[in-house]
Amino acid sequence: MKFSDIPGQSAVIERLRNTVREQRVSHAILLYGPEGSGKFAVALAFARYVACENRTADEACGKCPSCLKYDKLIHPDLHFVFPVVKKKNVQEPVSDLFIQQWREMVLKSPWFSLSQWTEAMDVVNEQASIFVAEASEIVRKLSLKTFEADYKVMIIWLPEKMNTETANKLLKMIEEPPEKTLFLLVSEEDDKLLPTIVSRCQPVRIPSVAREDMTAFLSDKYSLDHERALDIAGIANGNMVRAIALASDADGTAIYLDRFKSLMRTAWSRDIQGLIAWSEETAALGRERQKSFLSYALRLIRENFVMNFGGRENRIVFLTRDETDFSTKFYPYINEKNISFLDREFNLAYSHVESNGNTRMIFLDLALKTMRVIV
Ligand SMILES: [Zn+2]
Repeated sequence: MKFSDIPGQSAVIERLRNTVREQRVSHAILLYGPEGSGKFAVALAFARYVACENRTADEACGKCPSCLKYDKLIHPDLHFVFPVVKKKNVQEPVSDLFIQQWREMVLKSPWFSLSQWTEAMDVVNEQASIFVAEASEIVRKLSLKTFEADYKVMIIWLPEKMNTETANKLLKMIEEPPEKTLFLLVSEEDDKLLPTIVSRCQPVRIPSVAREDMTAFLSDKYSLDHERALDIAGIANGNMVRAIALASDADGTAIYLDRFKSLMRTAWSRDIQGLIAWSEETAALGRERQKSFLSYALRLIRENFVMNFGGRENRIVFLTRDETDFSTKFYPYINEKNISFLDREFNLAYSHVESNGNTRMIFLDLALKTMRVIV
């Protein structure tokens, strides 16, 4: 990952490069920002830059042994920690158990969501977290001498997925770090981190990607014509994960739309058997996918509500062509009588899925409640 491969973020990148030039790299940096802003890409490019043996003022050389190993994510002084899931016979899994899948995922694209990562681990109905066993792994790895580089780099993706015990152990390490260690924490929900961890890190906010930067990236990497790239960048609204999914439609947004349409149609026609079938099907998806679907549904409900209030022309820019086709007919059904109810119930379903509730009950309940208000 090179700095020049990252759309947007030039100000942040320049700030980070400056700390290297002036030899004042802090030992713990918290890169935080919304999903798809490129936090992880920035962390990776920065680590590669720090480790490079022959860097220029702006970029790592790309040719030295360090860069070559970074490009395959196999540098012995580069360590990753990320949320994982329990496996058969492994109650306390650690990141290294999934390092193969992780490398594949990151090398394919450094912009991905937790639900895409969970899917890459090939699991359904499991929520990923950073388990306590990981803490001793971190201690072990950081107590090793550096193999080749000046710095040992530990990139922790989504540290908010640690429980308190693990987080406290991490805090200790950040408070008293072994020499020449660089912690890069990449967080999406920094408000869920221990305040004591946050206060020990240099905070670097990675904002959403500007539309023009995203458009240029999509035209270039996905060979899209300017208009299509601009369109997708508008819908993605600063989120690279969403932009890439739309550009390659690999995320299954089309599938979420189908699922949403079928719920609304079945609810409108008062087809109880159909609603039961719908909830069974939805309950069979993995929890991360269920959460993605619910977020997607919430977004569509809100967009349709806005369309109902005269914002139709403005909103279409935030919808794909298929979503527009559907919403043009559907929007009259979302109005001031049911918007708060639907918003609350879909949000509630989301938090119940997240807290490991019985998904068959959650989705059946949601489907029946939807039926009551789609009239
Ligand atoms: Zn190099």
